[in-house]
Amino acid sequence: MTQDHDCLHRFFFEDANVRGVIVQLRDTWQQIAHRDDYPTEVRQWLAQVAAATALFAGDVKVDGSVSVHLKSASALRLVFAECSSQGDMRGVARWDTFDAIPAVPDDLRGAAGILALTVMRANGEPKWQGMVPLEGNSLAAAFESYFNRSEQLPTSLFFAFDGKSCAGLLLQEVPAEGGIARERDAAMYEYARTMAATIESDELLNLSPHEILRRLFHEETLRLLDAQPIRFQCRCSRDRAIGILRSIGPEETAAALAESGERVTVTCEFCNGQYSFDAIDIQQMFSGLDQDAAVTRH
Ligand SMILES: [Zn+2]
Repeated sequence: MTQDHDCLHRFFFEDANVRGVIVQLRDTWQQIAHRDDYPTEVRQWLAQVAAATALFAGDVKVDGSVSVHLKSASALRLVFAECSSQGDMRGVARWDTFDAIPAVPDDLRGAAGILALTVMRANGEPKWQGMVPLEGNSLAAAFESYFNRSEQLPTSLFFAFDGKSCAGLLLQEVPAEGGIARERDAAMYEYARTMAATIESDELLNLSPHEILRRLFHEETLRLLDAQPIRFQCRCSRDRAIGILRSIGPEETAAALAESGERVTVTCEFCNGQYSFDAIDIQQMFSGLDQDAAVTRH
């Protein structure tokens, strides 16, 4: 038997231009949310953003990565997740304790909430970015309004989270040529989203994708593609940590070294990985920079 969780499952309706993706994150989610200081409300946001990011990665089929970025001036400062076309995922959230964490996007009114969806090429260059105000009575509604209005792609999203795992279901009407096919697709999409809205959280989290599709759409002919594995994988490295210290500059790095005593440690927010540098390392990283600069100048 193949594993169903920590995989992307794409499916198509055979008789209409309607497609979908199911994702259930268990081990991947637990590694993303490894920090034990995330408040419950922050975890709920991060779980939905992680599930959404995986769904979009399954939907757009780009050679690169997809990321979702949520920012606001409320106590929920930032929620971020990314998923590569190879299925490598990571995510992080930042929050403040000065105020209650908002429960839904509409609680962010006046806090300049922004939701951004970015597609990056494999070489790390941005391919495309969409940005909308974060509003609505749920994160799913905020994404739906984005796709429906900005992309003219009728899209429905459903999320579930129980602390240990998170799951998502995406339905989308794919653009067709028009005429009768367009009407048929729209009717099938409306039917599919009405049926999908009946899914219970524990079903989306715990049933296999086969069972979910049978439970929701047993009257339709669907094609379920091969599952694509998803895993937690950070992209941090010692070189990237050096890049961060170089961007901070020699004076501030020296000040951090003086303050801490013997070493400066860069901690990765995503995986808690630690990269530690002593005075000699720091001297080398900045003298190396000077040499590079000298080479560039001449
Ligand atoms: Zn890391």
